[in-house]
Amino acid sequence: MLAQGPRVAAFEEAFARVTGSRHAIATSSGTTALHLALMAHGVGRGDEVITSPFTFIASVNTILFTGATPVFADIDERTFNIDANAIEAAITPRTKAIMPVHIFGQPCDMDEITALASKHGIVIIEDAAQAVGATYRGRPVGSFGTGTFSLYATKNVMSGEGGMITTDDDRIADQCRLLRNHGMRKRYQYEMLGYNFRLTDVLAAIGLAQLNRMPESTARRRANAAFLSAQIESVATPTVKEGRDHVWHQYTVRVREEMDRDDALRRLDAAGIGSGIFYPAGAHKFRHIKEVVGDVEMPVTDSVAASVISLPVHPLLDQADLERIVAAVNEL
Ligand SMILES: *Cc1c(COP(=O)(O)O)cnc(C)c1O
Repeated sequence: MLAQGPRVAAFEEAFARVTGSRHAIATSSGTTALHLALMAHGVGRGDEVITSPFTFIASVNTILFTGATPVFADIDERTFNIDANAIEAAITPRTKAIMPVHIFGQPCDMDEITALASKHGIVIIEDAAQAVGATYRGRPVGSFGTGTFSLYATKNVMSGEGGMITTDDDRIADQCRLLRNHGMRKRYQYEMLGYNFRLTDVLAAIGLAQLNRMPESTARRRANAAFLSAQIESVATPTVKEGRDHVWHQYTVRVREEMDRDDALRRLDAAGIGSGIFYPAGAHKFRHIKEVVGDVEMPVTDSVAASVISLPVHPLLDQADLERIVAAVNEL
């Protein structure tokens, strides 16, 4: 079996168990998982969806795919996550959903977001693409509303390409399964306009093996991050708010104001230390989004985007690697 079959079903069952949801629905990517989750909740033209501008573009593009309007709420500069006060200020009668993005693997302020959602009758669609295994006050991300995950090659649990949707709601799960496969419940009977957003059994087999290794690989990421935070002095190390278990998809520092980031990147590169800029600009800066949203001011996102550097934190680092990273960073 190459296409969607028993391995996909086994992977979905294991994923639901690990993430504490009743259902997990495998998809062809994190992007298609977000797209299906939005559609299953009936998000469409005339609706607004509040999300963070400091994210991978798929969070925003999938809102656009449905015809809804993305509305940005600026971030908390300590955690890089969407600011709950900014969400509250962005709510209008047209707000249909809030899409918190658990950026870099740290859960958002879910108590505040859950309270806002229930007060205003708004659904929560979590973009947990970077946060598989993370918990907020002991509860796994992806279980606060409808959750979406990515299995892209760089994510903490990966199959190359792939995604997952998690939900406790039988109706949403059913809608996602239908939309994933041409709106087809019985063979060649189409209940609605649907897509081919299926995962393959080959990729599910890889994903299942990866999921089984997640406790070990997450523990290594945590130990690596703890070492870096204890040793790095030259730049601002990440803040983890209380009550959250961060899974360190990225370990992201901020250069100090007097430091030139491009120069820092060149020096790290010269020292043989891989680094990345996630993200060089907020989503509000791109033309196809400005055409819908207009010119909006996101000052915290702008200043964070101009000063972040992500350092290696992955599970295959050894002690010598970590010491080399610390030495090169503290030289800056
Ligand atoms: C990776 C990612 C996605 C999209 O996932 P794909 O599997 O690449 O389609 C969406 N949101 C965030 C925050 C991501 O990091």
